[in-house]
Amino acid sequence: DIKSLSDLEKLSVIGHGNGGTVYKVRNRKSSSVYALKVLRFDQNATIIRHQAACEAEILKRVDSQFVVKCLAVFDTIEGDLCFVMEHMESGSLYDELRVRRNLPEHAVSGIAARVLRGLQYLHGMHIVHGDIKPSNLLINGKGNVKIADFGVSKIVVGARNACDMCMGTCAYMSPERVDPERWNGDKADGFAGDVWSLGVVLLECFVGHYPLIGLGETPDWAALMCAICFGERPEMPETASLDFRSFVRRCLEKDWRNRGTVDELLDHPFVNRSF
Ligand code: ATP
Ligand code: MG
Repeated sequence: DIKSLSDLEKLSVIGHGNGGTVYKVRNRKSSSVYALKVLRFDQNATIIRHQAACEAEILKRVDSQFVVKCLAVFDTIEGDLCFVMEHMESGSLYDELRVRRNLPEHAVSGIAARVLRGLQYLHGMHIVHGDIKPSNLLINGKGNVKIADFGVSKIVVGARNACDMCMGTCAYMSPERVDPERWNGDKADGFAGDVWSLGVVLLECFVGHYPLIGLGETPDWAALMCAICFGERPEMPETASLDFRSFVRRCLEKDWRNRGTVDELLDHPFVNRSF
């Protein structure tokens, strides 16, 4: 029912990401509320821009209760790309963790179950998310978590703030993505990378801080890369259940060929018990 950008009225700025800004908007006619993500592109970034437009087409076909819905995509004369999305009232898991610091195990299990279902759907459509991290897991008014921003984040690589983006995004990247050389031509398809990122996120939710490097350390790119590729597997706290520990261990398996798959993990007791 949204035919052009002029159907929408901007209400407020929700936040800024690496490639652009997200607004809360309202449909002037129906008064339904949406989130509008505006991505800026350099004049000369035509290839990236074209890629973005292609991914936008895929985005519109994605329809799952575990993935934030994209309802429409528009171009502007300035060359921006605008994504009209389902508005997620309660913000992101990143915001939630800033407020509550950490989450109890039953909440983490619920998040795991929903993100796995979302990944099962996307992977089934041959889509690798590629950027699972707390700010891309959004929460609606009912408290349900959904996956946001797949593709979109890949698109903006090289657009702006490449460095900041790297720190934010690379923290959740799997060893095979950080260091692809190491696999002697045994090329990862990317799906296992999403599982790794999920493991890092879940661990962070439980311990209350980014789990792969020490609390006091200033995370520069080299320290992150070392921790991801060569660091010890982080110790799960004693307070975590055996199921939780075994689940995270399957996600954070360094060798992607041995890592748990989405289907395997959906059968894991950690996501299949009632608390
Ligand atoms: P990145 O650019 O790497 O994705 P990011 O996720 O922090 O980083 P954006 O995706 O641009 O940046 O999001 C900016 C802010 O807007 C975030 O705080 C995010 O939680 C919020 N946001 C994004 N999409 C929605 C949405 N559909 N509903 C509500 N809030 C949203
Ligand atoms: Mg995002």
